[in-house]
Amino acid sequence: MRDFTAGLQALDEAGLRRRRRTVDGPQGAVLDVDGRPLIAFASNDYLGLANHPAIADAAIHAIQRYGVGAGASHLISGHHAEHARLEDELAAFVGAERALYFSTGYMANTGIVPALAGRGDAVFSDALNHACLIDGARLSRADLHVYPHADMAALDAALRASPASHRLILSDAVFSMDGDIAPLHELAALAERHDALVLLDDAHGFGVLGPHGEGALAHAGVRSDRILYLGTLGKAAGVSGAFVAGRADIVEWLVQRARTYIFTTATPPMLAAAVRASLEVIRADDWRRDRLRAHARRLRDGLAGLPWRLLPSEGAIQPLVIGENTAALRVMASLLDRGCWAPAIRPPTVPAGTARLRITLSAAHTDLHVDTLVSALVDTAASATTAARAA
Ligand SMILES: *Cc1c(COP(=O)(O)O)cnc(C)c1O
Repeated sequence: MRDFTAGLQALDEAGLRRRRRTVDGPQGAVLDVDGRPLIAFASNDYLGLANHPAIADAAIHAIQRYGVGAGASHLISGHHAEHARLEDELAAFVGAERALYFSTGYMANTGIVPALAGRGDAVFSDALNHACLIDGARLSRADLHVYPHADMAALDAALRASPASHRLILSDAVFSMDGDIAPLHELAALAERHDALVLLDDAHGFGVLGPHGEGALAHAGVRSDRILYLGTLGKAAGVSGAFVAGRADIVEWLVQRARTYIFTTATPPMLAAAVRASLEVIRADDWRRDRLRAHARRLRDGLAGLPWRLLPSEGAIQPLVIGENTAALRVMASLLDRGCWAPAIRPPTVPAGTARLRITLSAAHTDLHVDTLVSALVDTAASATTAARAA
């Protein structure tokens, strides 16, 4: 048997041991973390909807009407009117023919990729894609071509060289650890030129980007039948689950073939009801998106003079690259001492030597919260410089 104690010790020594912090109470800008209040820049509740009263009420009313469980998988007897209504509303919102609601984004991607590509087909994947797209590609048994991040010339060449008759391109729309947006016009054009399909994972853009939160495609003004759009519902939407939207025939194929849709109990109808209420808030509350963008500008202005590099991003994800794992952990610890929580992200989530603080902003934050983080980082940088001089 493997020596698990030694394995864990090795993680400790490399600064790679993760530990969970326990949050109590509702989501919000300030969280009760292991018993103490911290201003949290650590959640994906970008619009501040996870504890929205109207959305919570929708869940409560749905529980009163329908109870808590769906009873079975969608293809047996678990497909509920709330699921059907939600799918219609999601499709209309993103301007697609049809949408399909999955239990989680992870399950959606690990089910969709193998449903669309198999042995002898080819999958083309951005080097910085989320783990669940990578796992989906591996499960598919298709030939996998990983192209350098956002490198459309490399993708073009790989597509041109591929003899496969079915080609599937996988990309995050907003990259989860870098915050940048994929070249969406070029992806759509390459799919057209090479008769390929794109699965675009907009986990971080849905609700945040676009005139009323419709996501990255609406933001960029891209429309294409060759793009299958995936949004997740546990981040900006504040609830749980995911959906894929696109051509009706492709979506129907997924109902028939996506194993993570078929072989799992349907999500409780109360969650679909909560997502429907969330969609109404997403559509109506443009001020939440405006406030998020204003916070991003405020943070970037405040951190302009720091020794660490803030990656280019206008959105909710503001990654501050520190470098070594232990250095990133030290900065995180210093922020915790100053009442702010921004998680250190280390390999294998990001490449070695680029450990970073993944600062996430939310419409739930106030200007004062953002200013507090800026001061804490400026103080931390100053004391790091003093310590380096003294050594
Ligand atoms: C969070 C995330 C997922 C997973 O979605 P869940 O609903 O949390 O399982 C998928 N893709 C990307 C890019 C993500 O950031």
